[in-house]
Amino acid sequence: MNGIQEVGGSIPPSSTSLGSRQMTDVQTPQCAVCGAMECVHLVDKDGYAFSKCGKCGFVFLNPMPSQTNLNEIYEDQAVTSGGDYPKARSRMRRAYGRALRFVPYTFRKKVLDIGCGGGFMVGALSKLGADGYGFDVDETAIDYARRRFPNCQFFASSFEDFQGHEGQYDFVYSSEVIEHVADLPTFMDLLKRVTRPGGYVYITTPDIGSPRRPKNLVEWDVFSPPIHVQFFDENTLAHVFEQAGFIPIRRFPDSKSGLKMLFKNT
Ligand SMILES: [Zn+2]
Repeated sequence: MNGIQEVGGSIPPSSTSLGSRQMTDVQTPQCAVCGAMECVHLVDKDGYAFSKCGKCGFVFLNPMPSQTNLNEIYEDQAVTSGGDYPKARSRMRRAYGRALRFVPYTFRKKVLDIGCGGGFMVGALSKLGADGYGFDVDETAIDYARRRFPNCQFFASSFEDFQGHEGQYDFVYSSEVIEHVADLPTFMDLLKRVTRPGGYVYITTPDIGSPRRPKNLVEWDVFSPPIHVQFFDENTLAHVFEQAGFIPIRRFPDSKSGLKMLFKNT
């Protein structure tokens, strides 16, 4: 298998599909972005091994932890405590700053924040005239969002369990989520399913192609397995969206090593 090392040694040979719900970690030579079977070991960090696609450059944890196991990690790491939200004021301020740029896409439109946390972006977009919805796997965060932004609607759900809502949203926002997603095909299906034809999806994620990130990958602060399981650059992110039926509209500048892109559902 192109020299890929077995790590952990608990990988059943039958676990090859990333599209179904896995309870076990999955080792694969196949790139989830371009489908090439040319992925080779790149680097280890904290006992986790990353592979890189020889064709498109996509970098991902290999073996990939199961989504079920990752969701358990998030539930253990719930960021809220005692009914309050850490740094709520600065989160709200930053959300307004960000939300302003989306007003042309969101005014009097239905918006969904995937991985909304305490609901600050949904609340900000709503104040600026949108009909706001959000969901997050962290139930405590959703409880907070419901109390703080009663005019918006929030759901406690993992992305795999977020059913319905077909074609309902004009604008889907998902910030710093896709790098956490072990089951990329299911996540892309969700984006395609809930966005109305002609609607937009805005994604942010760390940019592994950024000249601003440390040259040595393992020194990059966001290079943090198993929380971040994969890394995109502009080309690989555009590719995965094009495969799912979107077209790239524009990339927004970022002062750090972030990738911020807007896509349109065709
Ligand atoms: Zn690839």
